[in-house]
Amino acid sequence: MRTAMVISPHADDAAIFCGGAMARFAAEGWRVILVRVTDDRYDSVGLDVDQTVQRNALELQKSATVLGVAEVVELGFETDRLADTPETVIRERIVYLFRKFQPHTVFSFDPTDIREDNQDHVRVAQAVAEAFWVSCFDKHCPQHLAEGLEPFAPAERWFYSRNAPGADYVLDITGTVRQKVAAVLCHETMMRNVLNQYRLQLRTAGRRMAMIDAGVAGGDLRPLVEMFVCGTAQAVAQAAGFPEGHFAEAYRRERFGDLDELFAAASEAIPEGE
Ligand SMILES: [Zn+2]
Repeated sequence: MRTAMVISPHADDAAIFCGGAMARFAAEGWRVILVRVTDDRYDSVGLDVDQTVQRNALELQKSATVLGVAEVVELGFETDRLADTPETVIRERIVYLFRKFQPHTVFSFDPTDIREDNQDHVRVAQAVAEAFWVSCFDKHCPQHLAEGLEPFAPAERWFYSRNAPGADYVLDITGTVRQKVAAVLCHETMMRNVLNQYRLQLRTAGRRMAMIDAGVAGGDLRPLVEMFVCGTAQAVAQAAGFPEGHFAEAYRRERFGDLDELFAAASEAIPEGE
């Protein structure tokens, strides 16, 4: 059984950016491991920090269940503070998880998305990008080896991002877009906080939107989430030339970089059991 590991800085990133892929991989028999890097302790409206931590952890578990995730790993870093955390500290945790779970494919924020303004996203993207090669070195993080783990390299990286720089692969998620909507809806606490940000910005601009005000106040989030998730996925599918009624997610996929062609031509399959 192959393993896919999704590295999500915050609870909602995984469902929003690659929920369709996660559900599809799980349905196709992959073991999907979801790693949340932060604790999302500030991400709510009107709750205290302890309540916020509890709610977001619970909602992440629900969302993971909807997507068919086999295991959720919590790294517990303070949210919105990763820019103050040395990249090497986050990287060590990622290297550990690569060596422990041995993922074939890793999903992460794209480190080349320079328009990303969320520093947690940027930090995690950098840490994962470096962990990818550092985890191969037998002299990096030798304490992992003392635990019986071994140097390890994932085969593929699927980078997701807000601005999709250089996206070169479009995955059809028509079969799992409903699960994606349901998973995003699980993150009720974080969604209401996102809506509150728009409510405040609109108010400063002298505007308001009834749907957003109702969402912040505890109303049904489904119409907004459906509009956002399905609208985005439909636009990606359309741009890729998929037939009408299809939904998709865009990724920048990396395997061996410049060596893709050489390895495809000159490598051979390792026999079972070797
Ligand atoms: Zn995030």
